[in-house]
Amino acid sequence: MDLSFTPEEESFRDEVRSFFRDKLPARLSTLVREGKRLRKADMEEWHAILNERGWLANHWPGQWGGPGWSVIQRFIFDNESALAHAPRVVPFGVNMLGPVLIKYGSEEQKKHWLPRILDGSDWWCQGYSEPGAGSDLAGLKTTAVRNGDVYVVNGQKTWTTLGQHADMIFCLVRTDATAKKQEGISFLLIDMKSPGIEVRPITLIDGEQEVNEVFFTDVEVPVANLVGEENMGWTYAKYLLTYERTNIAGVGFSIASFERLKEVAQSQKKGGRALADDPLFAARMARVEIDLANMQTTNLRVLAAVAGGGAPGAESSMLKIKGTEIRQEITALTRRAYGSYAAPYIPEALEAGWNGEDVGPEDAAMAAPSYFNNRKLSIFGGSNEIQKNIISKAILGL
Ligand SMILES: Cc1cc2nc3c(=O)[nH]c(=O)nc-3n(C[C@H](O)[C@H](O)[C@H](O)COP(=O)(O)OP(=O)(O)OC[C@H]3O[C@@H](n4cnc5c(N)ncnc54)[C@H](O)[C@@H]3O)c2cc1C
Repeated sequence: MDLSFTPEEESFRDEVRSFFRDKLPARLSTLVREGKRLRKADMEEWHAILNERGWLANHWPGQWGGPGWSVIQRFIFDNESALAHAPRVVPFGVNMLGPVLIKYGSEEQKKHWLPRILDGSDWWCQGYSEPGAGSDLAGLKTTAVRNGDVYVVNGQKTWTTLGQHADMIFCLVRTDATAKKQEGISFLLIDMKSPGIEVRPITLIDGEQEVNEVFFTDVEVPVANLVGEENMGWTYAKYLLTYERTNIAGVGFSIASFERLKEVAQSQKKGGRALADDPLFAARMARVEIDLANMQTTNLRVLAAVAGGGAPGAESSMLKIKGTEIRQEITALTRRAYGSYAAPYIPEALEAGWNGEDVGPEDAAMAAPSYFNNRKLSIFGGSNEIQKNIISKAILGL
């Protein structure tokens, strides 16, 4: 199998590299490289720069504003983006809702919502999980009862990432309580400013407000905001999740953070020699490097399979498991590499411009928060145990 890029792909990579060199603000790439917190305005700034270049929704069809790239071009772009320490595109509108609307939305919905995702008019969040309905998502209880031209929504969502910034939430709601649980679910687009919505923050171990609870009390939602058909939401929900999982794999991110780990392991000394030369540490690093190389190939295979416009299937579960294991192992090794320097927890160090007392090498203060924060990777988007169940059914036929 020839995995080298063609001359055209090489020149595309050069074009992408010069774009990052010229257009990615140094302030943003420094924040990302140093593991600092990004504000809403930072994320919006990068979103706008990508959109202006026409490279924001790079997997959407040209008709709706995509650049018409091949899967290889997308792969190259994602890798270069991570290597340049560009902020991650907030995925909810561009990567999750966009593909669902393009496949299942009405023409009116596409014309209304897709341009607003691109120009950043609407910040979206994801209303899937509920207390008691995470892995068993089809057990969700939030109801939407039709009353003339509106649905009246009551219930609660939880773990809603960045919901505190959101203008809109796409929600799975129960529209038929009598049907089999997967068959009574619908996919609704809800304005976060609607009367009856309350957002409560969940503060994480690193002090960050990354996730929220969202409560709905008699919230009226226009029937025009139903995507596709009533009670068919489970089909759309699953389609969206395959995109979510493929994105969580984060190969480019792993490549960039592994490069950094190699530098740290070279610079840290143990008993007079570089940590990178310690056989046990070197063996763990070698395993990650091999897994990462395999992961890149698998990612390309999955992308090639969707080149014809199809959706990634259960293969996205494979990518999710392996990709998140690699990402977690890299953060674990980085934390170990910094040793005692990674021990003090300094919340202020996560803020841009922190200039406090030095505790070891430059980014050591971020090693522990990054390690703990990334435990989430094997939970969200469907936990890794659930992905194994999916693989055993869909791929192994068990
Ligand atoms: C940081 C973070 C951000 C998130 N963001 C969002 C968001 O924006 N929107 C959203 O809707 N949701 C979000 N989630 C929710 C996420 O999708 C759920 O946490 C996830 O699906 C797991 O559900 P649960 O937390 O209810 O755990 P449970 O379903 O209660 O699972 C608990 C444990 O039991 C295991 N388990 C459960 N069932 C099985 C089984 N059948 N076989 C084997 N093992 C099983 C699980 O793997 C897990 O280890 C987020 C979660 C986190 C941590």
